[in-house]
Amino acid sequence: MHVAIIGGGQLARMMAQAGQDLGMTFSFLAEEQEDTSPVTGLGNVVVRTKNVLTSNLFDLLGKPQYLTVERESVDADLLEEFSEFCMVAPSAKAIKVLQNRSREKHFIESLAIPTAEFRVSTSTNEVSEAVKQLGYPLLVKAAENGYDGKAQWRLKSVEDLNDFLAEYENQEVIVERLLNFDVEVSIIGARTKSGNLCSYNLTENTHQKGILLHSKTPVHPSYASFENLAKSYLEKLMEELDYVGVMSVECFVVGEQLLINEIAPRVHNSGHWTMTGSNTSQFTNHLLAISEQRLGNSELKEPTYMLNLLGKNVDEKHLIKEVTEYYWYNKKIMPNRKVGHVNLHYPDKEQLDNLLFNLMSEVYK
Ligand code: AMP
Repeated sequence: MHVAIIGGGQLARMMAQAGQDLGMTFSFLAEEQEDTSPVTGLGNVVVRTKNVLTSNLFDLLGKPQYLTVERESVDADLLEEFSEFCMVAPSAKAIKVLQNRSREKHFIESLAIPTAEFRVSTSTNEVSEAVKQLGYPLLVKAAENGYDGKAQWRLKSVEDLNDFLAEYENQEVIVERLLNFDVEVSIIGARTKSGNLCSYNLTENTHQKGILLHSKTPVHPSYASFENLAKSYLEKLMEELDYVGVMSVECFVVGEQLLINEIAPRVHNSGHWTMTGSNTSQFTNHLLAISEQRLGNSELKEPTYMLNLLGKNVDEKHLIKEVTEYYWYNKKIMPNRKVGHVNLHYPDKEQLDNLLFNLMSEVYK
């Protein structure tokens, strides 16, 4: 079975590594200038140059049976064209909805699922009007191509608004109420074309400057009651889009409410713990889902945390072998760049908190 992945970063790397154990082979479609060092040695890398026919790309990719993505910022028309040659999962339609924050938020609202109040703006006047209606503090987010807190502006005052407007080039943005949330959580699951579903335990996420720093599964007991609600959101979203593959849903807990922040039509950083904490990782289940195979057991084996290595490596001598797994992405270290992660597992959550604390002190000293 041959699978082509759009993108050649760490998510593609971990997908291909998981797929090799399933007997699959891989190729990767990259943009010009894209750093594909994470997928070195895992399959052929094809660079998409201008004016190449999709049929030619399909041939160059080795005529895959399945095509999937490691990111949502892909050309949906290209996916549509590929679907004439092979199974594309998630579909062009699902990615088109979820790659644009305005379409995504309207989609969430159409299912009566709560999300932070927002306005869509494409001009200075609209931004000013949205700010007037929603009041400070606010977040402005580019509708497309923003991730890890990039292309986001926090507005706390009229001075911040003026600074933002001075740079603003009338691109589509959403202006969103800044929530004073209790905690961020995410839920990840997979769905096959015939509608088989699985999901993982709710995960508690901590971000630093908009970038995920660590994930904890299971969540603190005071948030465990949100697990079923989060699963019901995930299932509703997947059913509605006739979704195939892994989907990740990031949410805010605010008091008694669970609001969706973002939906990712792909494997997700907050699911990296599944490589250690579950019998079937999110990468394996994604590949099983897109190839319409029976989904693997997604139960939590024991409490498992994930610490991202952001622009840092860690000497393996600081990792206690029995309770850690170390993953390196074969990327050049640059400030705040995701270059690897460490999973920690232990039956007792309090002890695991200590292990995480000690590891963080070592990595980020
Ligand atoms: P995003 O790119 O939308 O996932 O945002 C990155 C991070 O910014 C989130 O994980 C939150 O920590 C924070 N954030 C995003 N939207 C909001 C919001 N409406 N209120 C408060 N914090 C937010």
